[in-house]
Amino acid sequence: MRTIIVGGGLMGATAAHLLARRGEVVEILDVKQPGNATWAGAGIICPEISAVTDPDYVALAMAAGRYYPGLVDALSGYDIGFGRTAIAKVRMAGEEPGAFNRSRDILYARQNSGAFPTRHAVSAVDPAWLREQHPLLGDVAEALYYPEAARVDGRKLVEALRWDSEAHGALWADALVGRIIRESGRIAGIETVDGEFRPGERVIVAAGFWSRALVAPFGIDLGLTPHRGQIVHLRTSVAGAGQWPILEGLRGHYILSWPDGRVVAGATRETDTGDAPFFTAEGQHQVLDEAFRVAPGLRPAEVREWRVGLRPASTDGLPILGAVPGVEDLWVITGHGAGGLLCGPYSAHLVIAAMLDGEAVPTAFSPRRFV
Ligand SMILES: Cc1cc2nc3c(=O)[nH]c(=O)nc-3n(C[C@H](O)[C@H](O)[C@H](O)COP(=O)(O)OP(=O)(O)OC[C@H]3O[C@@H](n4cnc5c(N)ncnc54)[C@H](O)[C@@H]3O)c2cc1C
Repeated sequence: MRTIIVGGGLMGATAAHLLARRGEVVEILDVKQPGNATWAGAGIICPEISAVTDPDYVALAMAAGRYYPGLVDALSGYDIGFGRTAIAKVRMAGEEPGAFNRSRDILYARQNSGAFPTRHAVSAVDPAWLREQHPLLGDVAEALYYPEAARVDGRKLVEALRWDSEAHGALWADALVGRIIRESGRIAGIETVDGEFRPGERVIVAAGFWSRALVAPFGIDLGLTPHRGQIVHLRTSVAGAGQWPILEGLRGHYILSWPDGRVVAGATRETDTGDAPFFTAEGQHQVLDEAFRVAPGLRPAEVREWRVGLRPASTDGLPILGAVPGVEDLWVITGHGAGGLLCGPYSAHLVIAAMLDGEAVPTAFSPRRFV
């Protein structure tokens, strides 16, 4: 059976890698649309510090965190920028304690429930000690700390998945898919916007936020909206960035440092912009303002690059995974919003296991909820 994957962000690339390694015939069609989310992603891999409470999401995110080391092993011949590092959630001096307390209560309650065992515990740390760990950090009032988060370079990861899948026979093509074709009640392939037909008896839609338009002709509105994220890459001359903990402020922003001195600060989370993957004066101001508030030591850093991505966010905040109801052999992997670099590879694994081995995907993530 020939499978066509539409979209070569992290979801499509992982699906291609898994299918090709299972000996399946697979072709992946992708154009790097402006706004591709994986290309803009920061790279934080840490379910343990997330204050999301939905139990289905937490279970998925925790399993996704455990899935990463196996993926890293499978791609051991490639540089994907994966590395372990700590993470700290910080309340800056002068900030009201409410939001910090709410996060702490959620994390401690989850920990104490024992429902999601983790290798380490989230715990409060002395702000003075934390400033020793991160020399650019400002005046912290309180901090929570988890010692074993991770970072990954989304671009390098997708490239590695591509090379690995190609080495196992997958075909990658640069093409914009116009529509999925069904003939006599069966999936027959896709047609590109240039009218070119590519045959395939099975189609996986992994086209990020654009998945909605591809599935809509089958009568299902996937409930996906683009959440724009603007993010900056800085370079600091202060030594030791590779060892600095990831910093998370209380306003949804974060600062992630890399061994080469790169410091990524982001990101805006804009929910009402539509398909508009460009930078705004307000967005860039917000990103830098928040970065300097938490880490004033970043002020002299060199600005290397700005990136912008459209996170594929579902209306209920949960990923959309599995078979499209009523359309045999049409599958979807999307809807990860701000957590796709973490959850994506495991989500793709769940969908491929459902497709090839008949395993169940948790019903909370089924596209059926949009019927
Ligand atoms: C600023 C920012 C920071 C982030 N930071 C993190 C983080 O630290 N940790 C984390 O876990 N997550 C993070 N995320 C979220 C994560 O990046 C996304 O959830 C994830 O990358 C989504 O991957 P995807 O493959 O579903 O979609 P995408 O990466 O958007 O890929 C979809 C692909 O499909 C292609 N495509 C679309 N339509 C068609 C078509 N018709 N034909 C062919 N190709 C098509 C697109 O061009 C694109 O290449 C961040 C996102 C942003 C924007």
